[in-house]
Amino acid sequence: MFCKNCGTEFSDDVKICPSCGAKVEEEVAVEQPVIQAAVEEPAAPLKLSIKALVGFIVSLVGILILALPCGAAGAILSGLGLAETQSKKAKGLGFAIAGIILAVVDIVFGFYNIIATLL
Ligand SMILES: [Zn+2]
Repeated sequence: MFCKNCGTEFSDDVKICPSCGAKVEEEVAVEQPVIQAAVEEPAAPLKLSIKALVGFIVSLVGILILALPCGAAGAILSGLGLAETQSKKAKGLGFAIAGIILAVVDIVFGFYNIIATLL
């Protein structure tokens, strides 16, 4: 460090300047408050994809009633949900895949019913 009076350089443990005799003031270490980097991640990784869940439910409903319209809607929603789980790392991949499988079953079942009705 340097003497504030004369500018002579000396070691840190010296209390009195060897050159001019001025009392060396200890530098008060002003502690900067550590600003916590409270930056939240933009994409919440554990958020459940609502589209995947709704797609699954709609497809499930299609198994019971209204096979074709629910199958179509379920396939779209599950597909969007599947994309969401991949792009935003949202939860619900299982729901999305199950929703798509059920939607396919709905559509096949729906078409089968129509054909069976016509024949
Ligand atoms: Zn000095």
